[in-house]
Amino acid sequence: SPVASLGIHESVDDVFPPGELATYLADLPIEIEVVSDDEIASCDAVVTLEYRDAFLELDWIHSIQAGVDRFPFDELEANEVILTNSTGIHDRTVGETVAGYLLMFARRLHDHVANQQERRWERPEWDEAFTLPGTTACVVGTGTLGRGVAETLGALGVRVTGVRRSGDPVPGFDEIYANDRLFEAIEAAEFVIVTVPLTDETHHLFDAEAFDAMRDDAYFVNVARGPVVDEPALIDALEASSLAGAALDVFEEEPLPEDSPLWELDEVIVSPHCAAYTRDYFRDVGDIVRENVDRLETGEEFHNRVV
Ligand code: NDP
Repeated sequence: SPVASLGIHESVDDVFPPGELATYLADLPIEIEVVSDDEIASCDAVVTLEYRDAFLELDWIHSIQAGVDRFPFDELEANEVILTNSTGIHDRTVGETVAGYLLMFARRLHDHVANQQERRWERPEWDEAFTLPGTTACVVGTGTLGRGVAETLGALGVRVTGVRRSGDPVPGFDEIYANDRLFEAIEAAEFVIVTVPLTDETHHLFDAEAFDAMRDDAYFVNVARGPVVDEPALIDALEASSLAGAALDVFEEEPLPEDSPLWELDEVIVSPHCAAYTRDYFRDVGDIVRENVDRLETGEEFHNRVV
């Protein structure tokens, strides 16, 4: 195998302790070590959260995230560095997180938590709480995240529509729209959930016009990437009550700046980019890495190759 040593970059520590992955992969027939920025040159390949220019000297980079928008594709290609990502593992985690957001809004659980902080015994207005069956969720992006969301919400009785480029049917979705019918899809939904990768094509896909197309009583959920949304336009729509609320896991600037109005809006749930967190994360990533080390041995094409 051309890869004799695999470094686990210390940046993965944001998601799990690097040593847990090193131990999980210890039986592989290559050297595995946790590496800091100074030690990158000692490896042939790296498993990482963040990008470093020093990676351009390596043969292979594995991203522990599905989103690889932070990596410079052209430079990697010019330097013949292979990039693989971790798509395929976030269906259940993100699906359950999104189901949680919807249940919080429908059953008013976020109000109860806020009231409890103030020792306040206060019930919702008679017409605030509702149940999910009979509502429609439009999931924009029908890959791993989208399918996980569809499966979880489908089990709760939600009718789930999807938007993707091709418009071809996807199991678990009641209806699929091609992305040139995005507005038609979102104007018919009580919940709009964004699960697309950040690309030139999806940058600010949700802008003032898109929020305008949505129903006034609709909730917006972003578990994709912050820049898919024009955040000031979203804040305007929320403040003007032309949307009912939003659950946001990702933001144009992370951490979300302390002075962002999103922290304080009543019908907004903020989570710190952790929709996919699970104590099993290092195992899920480790299984992809193991599969690719096996394929290196047999000369097969990489699984989840991006560049
Ligand atoms: P996939 O590659 O499995 O799915 C992406 C989907 O988006 C595909 O179904 C694709 O369908 C669709 N798509 C791509 N471009 C467009 C477009 N312009 N309009 C409509 N649909 C489009 O990726 P994942 O589901 O694994 O991850 C998606 C993104 O979610 C990641 O790139 C990452 O940014 C984010 N993410 C966030 C997490 C979090 O913690 N909040 C965790 C994991 C991922 P088609 O090809 O038919 O267009």
